[in-house]
Amino acid sequence: MRFPLAGNGGVKKAIEQAILQNRLPHAIIIEGESGSGKTMLSRFLAAALLCEQAENPCGACRACTLTKAGTHPDLFITELEDKKKNISVEQIRNMRNEAYIRPQLSDRKVFIVEEADTMNPQSQNAILKVLEEPPGDTVFILNVRSRAALLPTIISRCVTYTLYDPDTPEAAAYISANFDMSESDAVNLLNQNGKSIGKAISAMKSKKSGTYQMAVDYLYLAENGSLYELIATTAPLEKERVKASEFFGHLSFLLMGRIRESAVNGKSTKKEFRMYNVCKEAEAALQSNVNLPLLFCTTASKFKSK
Ligand SMILES: [Zn+2]
Repeated sequence: MRFPLAGNGGVKKAIEQAILQNRLPHAIIIEGESGSGKTMLSRFLAAALLCEQAENPCGACRACTLTKAGTHPDLFITELEDKKKNISVEQIRNMRNEAYIRPQLSDRKVFIVEEADTMNPQSQNAILKVLEEPPGDTVFILNVRSRAALLPTIISRCVTYTLYDPDTPEAAAYISANFDMSESDAVNLLNQNGKSIGKAISAMKSKKSGTYQMAVDYLYLAENGSLYELIATTAPLEKERVKASEFFGHLSFLLMGRIRESAVNGKSTKKEFRMYNVCKEAEAALQSNVNLPLLFCTTASKFKSK
């Protein structure tokens, strides 16, 4: 079973046992700071509960695919509505009504309430009723930053799993294994994001689509590609001064990571240092009115020169 969660060994063990024995609780609180993995864990539990295979969650069956996409007809996710500060009592009542309707694909229904600690007492009392007498085989998962915001009567009916941010080496190992990144780059990324694994991963995902990924590709091509390929990589930035500066920022960040890694391993850092200086020159040139296509051309040839 592959948990989408770094660290938190105790919680993982407890959940693994419960899944193996088919004894996941019917009311669950997942507690943890933002970025600690509550959403991921709640989706994983939903997949385990709805999966059609014996060894669940298999990640491949129809139910798992639908759960992953958030479109399983027996999975209900209640979230804060746009610009609202609280989960409203109407939302909870809607959810409660759904709980009394038979499931469509699975034998059970799963209800997830995100930011459940924003429920006011009225909403909490509404959910309490259904927790006291859950219809059929329904399972409720409440994601909260702190369960202290919940009524004691709710807490006493739920099993709480508390998530903690894993320590940096553990988090870095997880990121490195799951996102094709060296451990030292993962450590840098974590340090830049307050050591929070969730923030680091979402920062990386948003970067991946743009100039960060371009910088990763650029470094790869500097080693393995042609001069032409290097110039082609940055072609989309030739009219984008802000993005060009972002690109060089990522490039020098990645190079700094490599320099550190080589230094730790007793390898020569000469080549990386040379590239790093080229990057810094380019960043400085961007401050003046430099011609961008020319800047990318000279950078590429300096990166390729031995
Ligand atoms: Zn499955």
